[in-house]
Amino acid sequence: MNRNTNTRLVLLLALLAATAIKAHAQAVAKPKLVVFITVDAMRPDYLSRFESQLTGGLARIYKGGAVFTNGFQDHAITETAPGHSATMSGRFPVHTGILTNLAGVNDTTVKLIDAEGLGASPFRFKGTTLTDWLIAKDPRTKVLSVSRKDRGAILPIGKSRQPIFWYASNGNFTTSTYYGSALPQWVQAFNARKLPASYAGQTWGLLLPESSYQEPDSVAIESSGIGFTFPHRESASADTAPRLLGDFPWMDEVTLQFALAGVNALQLGNGPETDVLAISLSTTDAVGHRYGPDSREMHDQILRLDRSLGVFLDSLFKLRNQNDVVLALTADHGMQPYPEVHAHDPNGGAIRVEVRPVLQRLSDALAKAGVPGKGLTYSLGVYEGNGFSFDGGLLELDRQALSSARVNRDSLLRGVAADFLRVPGVARAERISELAHADTVNDAIARRWLHMFGDEDKAAMVVTLAPYNYWATYNLAQHGSPNELDAHVPIIFYGSSIAPGRYSEFARVVDMAPTLAAIIGVPPLEKIDGHALQHAIR
Ligand SMILES: [Zn+2]
Repeated sequence: MNRNTNTRLVLLLALLAATAIKAHAQAVAKPKLVVFITVDAMRPDYLSRFESQLTGGLARIYKGGAVFTNGFQDHAITETAPGHSATMSGRFPVHTGILTNLAGVNDTTVKLIDAEGLGASPFRFKGTTLTDWLIAKDPRTKVLSVSRKDRGAILPIGKSRQPIFWYASNGNFTTSTYYGSALPQWVQAFNARKLPASYAGQTWGLLLPESSYQEPDSVAIESSGIGFTFPHRESASADTAPRLLGDFPWMDEVTLQFALAGVNALQLGNGPETDVLAISLSTTDAVGHRYGPDSREMHDQILRLDRSLGVFLDSLFKLRNQNDVVLALTADHGMQPYPEVHAHDPNGGAIRVEVRPVLQRLSDALAKAGVPGKGLTYSLGVYEGNGFSFDGGLLELDRQALSSARVNRDSLLRGVAADFLRVPGVARAERISELAHADTVNDAIARRWLHMFGDEDKAAMVVTLAPYNYWATYNLAQHGSPNELDAHVPIIFYGSSIAPGRYSEFARVVDMAPTLAAIIGVPPLEKIDGHALQHAIR
């Protein structure tokens, strides 16, 4: 080969390389729409367990996406509000300020619009989210967030006053006066269709022939022993049906239809900027609580969610070029099986743990020491005693009351910890100041508590049950602990900017917002806890 041919070859190769880079750049052009889907209480094994029967949206995302199989909501109080606060902020609850459902979005200073019920706003939320980062870069950025639940709609977006809507028990999608004084025309028009009432009298039966379901249907522990077999019937009354819709797969369908109406009305994904559509789907949580993660109902719910998501994505990709959309899917938390059901998890020996006597002794001791109060009471999942409250493993002490009564906090807590540890099923009872010295690489429980609380202001002591055990106070299937099954969630990205495959590296939900930010090319506006999952990016 002479020098001339050689030069020509080099030039040709350079030209080919340049074309390849250009083609690559075209294929992975900056997305015009981020669709962030959070399925409430979706365990990752629902996807693997039912994979062969998935044909719709879950199939598309699970088979064609970047799937992180070792993904976690890596914080301790695995409830809906803290989970949703981590999804698009890239920060743990210790930094978002959203610690529990009860101290989530409920706000008595604001009202719902065209609905009755508790007001809601992000007033407790601290810091920024992907939405804020996008708006800072391009103020044309449009946003829509929808959910059955107020916290599921509000928290992924953070404090920004955007079109954020959730489902009210009267069948309307609503917002609060934090966001505006009236519903926009397109929401009023959607509500006027009275879609939820149209499910009155309908029956939820199996999607596939009965032989496709291996789970027994007749498990009496489910649904508190009432109505635990198929078919499940909606109220025949058009007035009552909307209030009960959340227990049926149709709720997810209605939420997705509402999201699509919003994409059209707001023209999301149709401009030069990158827009945000956040969707939270709640029926998987309702079905999980009522029937448990191993139920035939859960199997059918996942199949129906798959089909609804399929219809949604097909419709979305008719409206918008699929190459312009990047999609992310996760869950706000997982769920543990009923202690009495042993279908998929090694939960033999799991029990319902009764700590009431410990709390009674604590309340009595504090009363005797002169700390005022009414004795031990229980309501809405929270125990309150003299000078303390206890909610799902979190012990809060009234510092002022204790110091007025000259109670020594350190020795009190030493005694309480020892008392908790004598209860069968309690694995750990610790102070945040003790956990601060733990090996947080290997001790996931300590790490997850430290991702909730930075000091002992709100958490005098945290109590962790052994895996698979339940608090005795609550009848339905449970989540909320730092244990593996509550924290393990799907983390999936899908789209032309994503490198599909199975990734077994440790990943956290707080890594999702920085990954999307890296794909879009926007910098976070503050220090965040997550980092971009580079392997997922094409
Ligand atoms: Zn739940």
